[in-house]
Amino acid sequence: MNAELTRQVNELRESVARLHAELTRYNLVAWTAGNVSARVPGHDLMVIKPSGVDYDDLSAENMVLCDLDGRPVAGELSPSSDTAAHAYVYRAMPEVGGVVHTHSTYATAWAACGESIPCHLTAQADEFGGEIPVGPFALIGGDDIGKGIVSTLTGHRSPAVLMRNHGVFTIGGNARAAVKAAVMCEDVARTAHLARVLGQPVPMAQADIDALYDRYQNVYGQRSSPPANS
Ligand SMILES: [Zn+2]
Repeated sequence: MNAELTRQVNELRESVARLHAELTRYNLVAWTAGNVSARVPGHDLMVIKPSGVDYDDLSAENMVLCDLDGRPVAGELSPSSDTAAHAYVYRAMPEVGGVVHTHSTYATAWAACGESIPCHLTAQADEFGGEIPVGPFALIGGDDIGKGIVSTLTGHRSPAVLMRNHGVFTIGGNARAAVKAAVMCEDVARTAHLARVLGQPVPMAQADIDALYDRYQNVYGQRSSPPANS
């Protein structure tokens, strides 16, 4: 590896290790379940969590560098058992720079029921642009999980898919965006569940969902140079 690639990989090892702490902070994972990965931009490489290592022991050094077939580069630890799914997504969706997988409780309960989360909240319209879809059931081991993620999310606004009887996969332009989608997916799933328990959630007009999504994705946030009077 040349010096520039080494620097790039080391930065991603740092950020991917750090982002795993967000999964525990937001109660999205139990034991060693859950994982974050990042694509190495411009290279057929990704950085992902090692398999079976406690969250307290995750560090930049033990993040695993893999090729986009999910094979660890020489000398690396064994990568997460979900590496094949992450790798499939990077191969099929060039715009994706980060992937996250969790079994977060409320979102996974919707996955267990095989039910997409309908959009009854402005926060869901903002982040997901509508429903959070359900993907097919797929066994771990080959490309089936990856194929299910890609076929469900291609052409869909949602960066999150509820894989049936399994859990959540999220994508983003980088790993941080995918982690944010995983956090927001669980938040929306919890509120949607409570709303269902309380009564009949009130549908939103598609035009309102579209307007919220457009504003949030294109306007919301800090401007790089705020106007002087604000
Ligand atoms: Zn899983």
